[in-house]
Parts: sequence; C-alpha cells; structure tokens
Amino acid sequence: MGRYTGPSCRLCRRAGEKLFLKGDRCFTPRCAVERRHSPPGNQNNRRRRPSDYGVHLREKQKARQIYGVMEGQFRRYMSEAFSSPGISGFNLLRTLERRLDNIVYLLGFADSRKQARQMVRHGHITVKGVKTDIPSFLVKAGDTIGWKETSKNSDFYKERTDGIPKRPIPSWLSLDVNEMVGEVVTLPSDEDLTQTINSRLIVEFYSR
Ligand code: SF4
Repeated sequence: MGRYTGPSCRLCRRAGEKLFLKGDRCFTPRCAVERRHSPPGNQNNRRRRPSDYGVHLREKQKARQIYGVMEGQFRRYMSEAFSSPGISGFNLLRTLERRLDNIVYLLGFADSRKQARQMVRHGHITVKGVKTDIPSFLVKAGDTIGWKETSKNSDFYKERTDGIPKRPIPSWLSLDVNEMVGEVVTLPSDEDLTQTINSRLIVEFYSR
C-alpha cells in the first residue's frame, strides 16, 4: 500500500487527538480537532467501544502517522527494537526520533515532518557537511545537520530560517542560529521522548 495522500486533519480526527501534521495551523483555532470532535465518516452505526485489537492498532497507526513512516519500514524498526538490548518500546521511539526528517523538523528548519521530508529529498540538507537526501537516515550523537551551501542562496532558505528558533528545541539537540547548523548532542533519553505515544501498546501489537 502506498503513502497516504489524503487530508492530514482526517488522521487527527480519526485518532481523536492532535498529531501536529500541518505546522503552524495546528496551533490555531482552525485546527480540525478543535472545531469538530467527531471522527471522520458516517456517524451512523458506529461502534462505541473499540476492541482490544482496535486500541493496539490505533496506537501503532498513530505513531506511523506522526513520523510519516510506511508500514514495512515501521515493522523493520520494531523488529530491530526487539533484537536490540533494553526496552523494546523505548528502542522503537528512539529510532523514530533519530530519523533525519524528524531532526530537521525539531530544529525548526521545517514547519512539519512532511515538509522536512520534502526538504531532505530535494537535497537541501547536509549531515556532517555531506548532502544527505534520505529522510530515514538515522543520525548519531555528534552529527551536525546543516544546509547545503547552494541552498543558502535561495529565497526558500531565507523564508525557512527567518525568525528561528520558532519553537523550543529539545535538550538533546543544539542549534547555532548564526550558521544554521544543528548538532545531535546526545541521543534522546526516556525523559526526552515527550510524544503522547504509548509504546507498550505498539510492542503488544507486534507481539501477538
Ligand atoms: Fe491535526 Fe494539525 Fe489538522 Fe489540527 S491542524 S487536525 S493538529 S493536522
């Protein structure tokens, strides 16, 4: 199955909570979750209580949608999380956080992870000074994330970097605002993973 290309807000309404998929709009009263509290689709004959399977499936889908990861890749992340030492749920969330498109978003270079993925794909972003156009690239502690030199001459760069930082940057990242270079100071710890994802439900989903 291909990547979902429908309305992002529909995914939030289905999840019943904000997934912050659309950048600035998510922080305004125009957010669809704030305007309409019902899930999308026909409201007749709707099951009131989701099944146990449904609860687990929804949590897994929520994580996939927040980070924009396809099903196959998400399954690979989970299987690596199972085979790595430590708590599988934490391993999974940490891998998702380490994706290059997520780092570009967290540094404030992009308004949403979707926009960050496009910027990486279009070759605007470097890791340790080398152009890297793979959104799923996993950063390591000590990696620096910046802009390609030729991209810095574009109007797009000025538009994207004007007024940065626009949001608080997580403590495990740092940003040199003058050079527009971010650094992964350390990999995120359990306390740094502030997403509202219940990783235990996802682990249980894949352990069935
Ligand atoms: Fe979700 Fe953002 Fe749309 Fe609100 S505006 S429903 S948080 S994508």
